[in-house]
Amino acid sequence: MQGKSHLLVGLTAGIVLDSAIHLTGDPLTMAKTVPLALLIHKAVYYWSVGFGSLLPDIDNARSTMGHKFGKISKEIQHLAGHRTLFHSLLGLAIGSLLAIGLEQVVIYLMDLRGLEFPALFVAGSHLVFFGILFGCIMHIFADSLTLGGVPLFWPSHKRYGFPPNPHMRFRTGTWPEGVIVWSFMIVVGIGIWLAVLVV
Ligand SMILES: [Zn+2]
Repeated sequence: MQGKSHLLVGLTAGIVLDSAIHLTGDPLTMAKTVPLALLIHKAVYYWSVGFGSLLPDIDNARSTMGHKFGKISKEIQHLAGHRTLFHSLLGLAIGSLLAIGLEQVVIYLMDLRGLEFPALFVAGSHLVFFGILFGCIMHIFADSLTLGGVPLFWPSHKRYGFPPNPHMRFRTGTWPEGVIVWSFMIVVGIGIWLAVLVV
């Protein structure tokens, strides 16, 4: 899938996850007042999910992440190839380690700017860690819907996808990709709208 699709799928799924288990605190639709801390939690969480949803394509120098990481990305693509290590369970383990490190950086930067309370919340809830990991999982899932599938158990080169028959999957960048991404966003949007109506 293309970077934009990954970002939209990741962030939309992130909304579903947050409304199911309230990672960032009270949902905005239910909060009587919207304290600044809650907005900061949500910003940190969605940044993490967005980052995670693009991260596996670090192995493709021409992707959104590839452009950001330049040389590193070229080197990874050269050594491992696109849709290999970073689109597998092993890649998820590496992504988790990276997420733990990045979480510490975020906490440090927040402390530095005098945001002690949100920093404590991030440290206690592991918002950054869960956000990045969830984004990565959604990326691999979204790519599994495409014709190429994903090498889930890399270094084994066998590729997996959903539906299992590759002829029922679509080629990255063709029209079904947009249909799937937009249908998913519309379904979640209707879900949120109904939830607001019920409240
Ligand atoms: Zn990918």
